[in-house]
Amino acid sequence: MENYENKRKIMVKRLKDELSISESVEKAMLEVPRHLFVPEHYVSEAYNDYPLPIGYGQTISAPHMVAIMCQLLELKEGEKVLEVGTGSGYHAAVVSRIVGDRGLVVTIERIPELAEKAMELYERLGYRNIKVIIGDGSVGYEELAPYDKIYVTASAPRIPEKLVSQLKKGGKLIVPVGDFVQYLYLVEKDHHGRIEKKNWGAVRFVPLVGKNGFEE
Ligand code: SAM
Repeated sequence: MENYENKRKIMVKRLKDELSISESVEKAMLEVPRHLFVPEHYVSEAYNDYPLPIGYGQTISAPHMVAIMCQLLELKEGEKVLEVGTGSGYHAAVVSRIVGDRGLVVTIERIPELAEKAMELYERLGYRNIKVIIGDGSVGYEELAPYDKIYVTASAPRIPEKLVSQLKKGGKLIVPVGDFVQYLYLVEKDHHGRIEKKNWGAVRFVPLVGKNGFEE
């Protein structure tokens, strides 16, 4: 019987030492059982710091990427967050622990089987502040907009304007942009609605597929 809790502690300690993650990100990553979000075949590798296949040609992001994106968004308790690309559901689970019961994570996935699997897992874990939507997240989710924070876990051809428009004033959006070479962008909307973009360096994500993404 593997000691997942211990493996998780070691993983989070390394992230803390090497990335200086905040206490809230640390606490959330200690809480979420990543081994339940990977296919059975990869369970023994769940606490290693790399992406793993989750079927349908998709991946669960590496733990350090989840930590970096949470950190850059400066997530706070009570916030309403939109995730585009539910995948395994792990990243949204971590965010849900940070925003807490007064907050909400809306996560969109285009592959119904992945979305349904994530919903079942949230039910089993009792994570009630996550709403999973099946659909094309490249157009955002107007019904619950505007959001305090938005992040995309698949690479877009350009910063999707539709997502920027669904961001609150004072909000932040993170999105990987590019095809062969991709960069992680942090987009900030100030209190006057002005936009500032920062490039945080090269990354590797699966493509965003949809109206404001790449063709399938
Ligand atoms: N956040 C995920 C996790 O914790 O496992 C990682 C997700 S994976 C790197 C990216 C996901 O984005 C895939 O599941 C893919 O199907 C999804 N995706 C791609 N284009 C999309 C779109 N237009 N709308 C919603 N989901 C999309």
